[in-house]
Amino acid sequence: MTFWGPDFDALQQLDPEIADVVTGELTRLRSGLQLIASENFASPAVLAALGSTLSNKYAEGYPGKRYYGGCEVVDVAESIGIERAKALFGAEHANLQPHSGASANMAAYGAFLQPGDTTLAMSLPHGGHLTHGTKVSYSGKWFNAVHYGVRPNDGGPHSEDIDYDQVRDLARQHRPKMLIAGGSAIPRTIDFAAFREIADEVGAIFMVDAAHFIGLVAGKAIPSPVPHADVVTFTTHKVLRGPRGGMLVCKAEHAAKLDKAVFPMMQGGPLMHAVAAKAVALKEAASPNYQRYARQVIANSQALTEALSVEGMRPVTGGTDTHLALLDLTEVGVTGRDAEQRCDRAGIVLNKNAIPYDAQPASIASGIRVGTPATTTQGMGEGEMKQIAGLIVRAVRDESGTDAAAIREQVGALVTAHPAYPRDDTGPVQAAPAGAPDAGGNPSPS
Ligand code: PLP
Repeated sequence: MTFWGPDFDALQQLDPEIADVVTGELTRLRSGLQLIASENFASPAVLAALGSTLSNKYAEGYPGKRYYGGCEVVDVAESIGIERAKALFGAEHANLQPHSGASANMAAYGAFLQPGDTTLAMSLPHGGHLTHGTKVSYSGKWFNAVHYGVRPNDGGPHSEDIDYDQVRDLARQHRPKMLIAGGSAIPRTIDFAAFREIADEVGAIFMVDAAHFIGLVAGKAIPSPVPHADVVTFTTHKVLRGPRGGMLVCKAEHAAKLDKAVFPMMQGGPLMHAVAAKAVALKEAASPNYQRYARQVIANSQALTEALSVEGMRPVTGGTDTHLALLDLTEVGVTGRDAEQRCDRAGIVLNKNAIPYDAQPASIASGIRVGTPATTTQGMGEGEMKQIAGLIVRAVRDESGTDAAAIREQVGALVTAHPAYPRDDTGPVQAAPAGAPDAGGNPSPS
């Protein structure tokens, strides 16, 4: 068997500047704590498919129905990927071609809506996403976007969780053609059955943007939106740990419409190397090891959140059921922007984030968002999460920067004990430090 794959020597010889970027990024990934909730470390197997000659192939169309010759080999990858997605998510149809999450969402809009139609989705400042009808996105420019939010922080049992009463009221008032659930900063699981009921009452298509949490669904760690939704769009690179990209699954009755919306309405040729890499990630995600990983991601997120909360960082909604938490830093007296910068200085990578009803503008924000997909892939567990919480708290309180070097040293100790991409400079991927390696060579959590 012949593989012509990533040849780093060739890159170094031809383009040392970009070679330095590639190695520099690997060093950055390995030397800090990666707590951005939407990032992860794709496995060597996923990266091998991505760095393959499949990148060369034009394959407009779908398996068996292409607009180019020579697609018989790539057809196999896409067909396998589709079958794996259907089996993993219990879906009637899958499309692996969307280039990204935003593209998958655009395809869903394109399949069901006409310009000017009304959509109802979570507002961005309450945890939604740019593509859910903000004015700077096609979704807000071309459609009449109405937004729901979360309940206020009134100390009640559902404080800061989705306001389902408001969703129902707005749906009755505006009769949206599409009702959308999901977002990028929602720490709690979503009541998909409640959304379905509201969508049915007003005759709306029910779309779930599961970009953030689909990996937890794949790992059977949280309930699935697939039985409830007309279409579920998602990214493949977050908890799911695949290549940078998008995907969608849907009911069979919508399959032809959605396929046509992906191609030719919205995209040209698929990225066949990415499609193959998605198939690899789906195989990994179907393993018992990945299910353990998904459960550990949540256990870690809860441990991290609890430890931060003890230190006065208030978790929005009081906690988390998923891979991410939103922490309100108002009581600590530090803005999200300053916290992000101070953590960055100490080797801890996370992002500022607006909290619901935030008094600060989004560019400053009162909160931070933390996520555990990447550190869990590195094999860290709840014990490490408590240490990380301590380091975050120290970094956030370190106004002058005098503690940054000492914190960075402890970050270094943690990531040395649990390395990302464990391998030496010349040799193959090493045995994982904690637990047996999974299908892709990623360590399982301790
Ligand atoms: N939808 C949600 C909920 C997201 O969180 C994101 C990205 O973070 C997207 C869509 C867009 O994905 P992409 O950046 O791949 O276009």
